[in-house]
Amino acid sequence: MEFREKAYAKLNISLDVGARRADGYHEMNMVMQTVKLCDELSVSTTEDGQISARSNLRFIPNDERNLAVKAARVFLDAAEISGQGLLLTLHKRIPVGAGMAGGSSDAAAVLRLLNRMYEDRFTRSELEKLAEQVGSDVAFCVSGGTALARGRGEILEDLPPLPDCRIVVCKPEFSISTPELFKKLDSAPVRHHPDTAGILKALGDGDLRAICRRMYNVFEDVGDRRMRTVAQIKSRMLDYGALGSIMTGTGSAVFGVFTEEAAADKAAEELRGEYRFACVTEPMPGLFL
Ligand code: ATP
Repeated sequence: MEFREKAYAKLNISLDVGARRADGYHEMNMVMQTVKLCDELSVSTTEDGQISARSNLRFIPNDERNLAVKAARVFLDAAEISGQGLLLTLHKRIPVGAGMAGGSSDAAAVLRLLNRMYEDRFTRSELEKLAEQVGSDVAFCVSGGTALARGRGEILEDLPPLPDCRIVVCKPEFSISTPELFKKLDSAPVRHHPDTAGILKALGDGDLRAICRRMYNVFEDVGDRRMRTVAQIKSRMLDYGALGSIMTGTGSAVFGVFTEEAAADKAAEELRGEYRFACVTEPMPGLFL
């Protein structure tokens, strides 16, 4: 028997980092949004008792280093199911190392899929608890939609949806390592913070322009030379008519928010010519489990 699920990419409408905690993690404050750009996942049961993955990308691990495999292990252990072999097949479309939670989203999709396969064994909040064991962004990806994520990213609050728009995502050739950027923050304290309260108010008002004016990611200001390319892509997005543009997560992908489909299509086409990856997507509503 084969089960299928989609794993939706995440973007940061804002990203703020607070103090470093005693446990080494930073206190985060992020407005998160899932988009329709997704990986396709299928799971089939096997007789060998092993959990393994395969994907269309050769450089992604197929063992427990793959977050999808890790999530399956966490689920089966929590559900006290032993000896069940699973083969996870991933068709990756979300760019890797882009700050779009590709791996986390695959992991969350595995949790949803296995929960369906095992007759809704866990509630949404139980699945989010399991997700925390897999990684910081996984809990958000379980339901997705628009949410405020605090703590390590696991304290979640559903928010009103992002108003209808087109979103152009562009990823330059390089990736940026998450631990590396956090280290830079420790030596250069954050100078500007996003107006998160203003974004929450604008979401409540359904005011896309006010949201876009306030989009901000503190990682763009850490003094990394790669941010020059990020800034170039952002300014291209604005030239093509975006209401706002920022880098998502720890990058390297940048997105721009558009109201006009034709302008978004044109921006993606032009950016694709210059950088490795560009596509048009749109906000994905939350999956209410
Ligand atoms: P985040 O937004 O959570 O920081 P990211 O988009 O920057 O994530 P990913 O694309 O999720 O980063 O993955 C980065 C690393 O994780 C890669 O080096 C990859 O080898 C590893 N990885 C583990 N599982 C997966 C997966 N299912 N899909 C993609 N990468 C994975």
